[in-house]
Amino acid sequence: MSTAVSRGTSPVSPARQPRLTVLSGPSGVGKSTVVAHMRKAHPEVWLSVSATTRKPRPGEQEGVQYFFVDDEEFDKLVANGELLEWAEFAGNRYGTPRQAVLDHLAAGVPVLLEIDLQGARQVRESMPEAQLVFLAPPSWEELVRRLTGRGTESAEVIERRLGAAKVELAAESEFDTTLVNTSVEDVARELLALLR
Ligand code: ADP
Ligand code: 5GP
Repeated sequence: MSTAVSRGTSPVSPARQPRLTVLSGPSGVGKSTVVAHMRKAHPEVWLSVSATTRKPRPGEQEGVQYFFVDDEEFDKLVANGELLEWAEFAGNRYGTPRQAVLDHLAAGVPVLLEIDLQGARQVRESMPEAQLVFLAPPSWEELVRRLTGRGTESAEVIERRLGAAKVELAAESEFDTTLVNTSVEDVARELLALLR
């Protein structure tokens, strides 16, 4: 397997502990796969569980991949200020529950958010000490292959997600670090090193 390529890193400040790390990248690039691989070996890494109005995919469990809520419940989370950030992505809303993130950071636990570009921008505004990591595909063709090959979305949803992917790829330079997801193992190792 080929090696993950790292395109630039920001200076690491030892004073900034624990770390809040945001992982973003186009749908289908392999964010969930990389994070799951890393957490299998390192379950101590805490991954925030988002709330979403998206319907569960086969195998997804309430409170594990997401808290699945309806529009009314999501409205309440927003109105009550319970979300650290939220965004609409390809027809559904997604948001990060604020309190759990703050509690883990206060307890000294490194926190990982797997969220979209709009959410990453909001976190950068509200928590400028956060590090932003962009997961890039080896090529556009490979991204299309992965998103299509996953087989979890309709052709229409894939089109919407590829539209969003073009916007996300154009924003790569806003991130502190880019990891190219060629090899899941290599990228998981690099991400773990960034979290510590
Ligand atoms: P995301 O969470 O970014 O939407 P997923 O983790 O669901 O993406 O991955 C999308 C598809 O790509 C899945 O079928 C996954 O198995 C596959 N995949 C992920 N990483 C790689 C890789 N490095 N090489 C080949 N396929 C991959
Ligand atoms: P999916 O439907 O494939 O699980 O996720 C679609 C997109 O929503 C992905 O880019 C994912 O990172 C993003 N996402 C998941 N949770 C959140 C969240 O809490 N906030 C934001 N802004 N994006 C999220």
